[in-house]
Amino acid sequence: MKKALITGVTGQDGSYLAELLLQKGYKVYGLRRRTSTPNYENVEAFKHEIEWISGDLTDLSSLIEAIQVSKADEVYNLGAQSFVEASWPQPLLTGQITALGVTHILEAVRIARPQAKFYQASSSEMFGKVVETPQKESTPFYPRSPYGVSKVYGHWITVNYRESFDLFASSGILFNHESPRRGIEFVSRKVTDGVARIKLGLQKELRMGNLDAKRDWGFAGDFVKAMWLMLQQDTADDYVIATGELHTVRELLETAFSHVDLNYEDHVVIDPKFIRPAEVDLLLGDCSKAQEKLGWRQEVSFQEMIRIMVEADLQRVEWAMKS
Ligand code: GDP
Repeated sequence: MKKALITGVTGQDGSYLAELLLQKGYKVYGLRRRTSTPNYENVEAFKHEIEWISGDLTDLSSLIEAIQVSKADEVYNLGAQSFVEASWPQPLLTGQITALGVTHILEAVRIARPQAKFYQASSSEMFGKVVETPQKESTPFYPRSPYGVSKVYGHWITVNYRESFDLFASSGILFNHESPRRGIEFVSRKVTDGVARIKLGLQKELRMGNLDAKRDWGFAGDFVKAMWLMLQQDTADDYVIATGELHTVRELLETAFSHVDLNYEDHVVIDPKFIRPAEVDLLLGDCSKAQEKLGWRQEVSFQEMIRIMVEADLQRVEWAMKS
């Protein structure tokens, strides 16, 4: 039985990956931070199938212990302070977890289990103020937030450990990916939750930032399959994972509101609070390398994903209103 250790397992990607690996017959170990009020919402349905290990990406000894206890064949580092907006008010915390945390876990692998395969969650935010479009593995990075800068560090330290210590360390440069399990502060979930609340009469307006930002939005359930595929290869490498389709935040609003027969223009209010100090205007990925080498394909379209998210939020909000 293969064994995998996942950091960030209670987050969106961690929960989809854990589900995928459990289906494949893995023993899944999940690293969890000690908190007085743990949040298992994303993993509730299969929480008891995960072996929980306490630890923290800022604490090397706990990571060494986690790797020794799990004897993991595959280590997926999905833990991070992952919200771009929060990285300006908390730049140091973001750096400690999202950047240096990667060195901590790589050190733990190097010391305790160098034969394990390692996956690092790199991000399209590393491309930031893009120098070419579409962005591929060879596109130079130009991060635009403390989060983006931290992810660039995490990416290069992964490459460096691969080259310095011959670790099997791969990095997935994932473009935005969403689902009903996405954190509520990210634009997709904020919109689908807002649509549900407006449709059910709980609120009238939705306060938003830059509607002209363009993103390449895929479905998280599709993207975690690429993570697994990367660790099934004979050699470690870096891959862009994206849909190759571009949409504006405005189109996202139109798609979500029209699904419940509403017009976004009647409800959306621009609030300067959500305009960022430095914006990433456009991200569009070219994933031909992943298609060729991993055989990876996107399955859920943008429209289908937004529909799934609106439906899930309608159900959730309705249920909360009744109870
Ligand atoms: P990011 O690409 O990792 O920053 O993902 P987000 O989902 O947080 O944001 C995607 C884009 O939507 C960014 O360009 C934001 O500036 C834009 N955006 C516009 N209005 C909002 C908003 O109200 N909340 C968020 N999170 N993003 C917004």
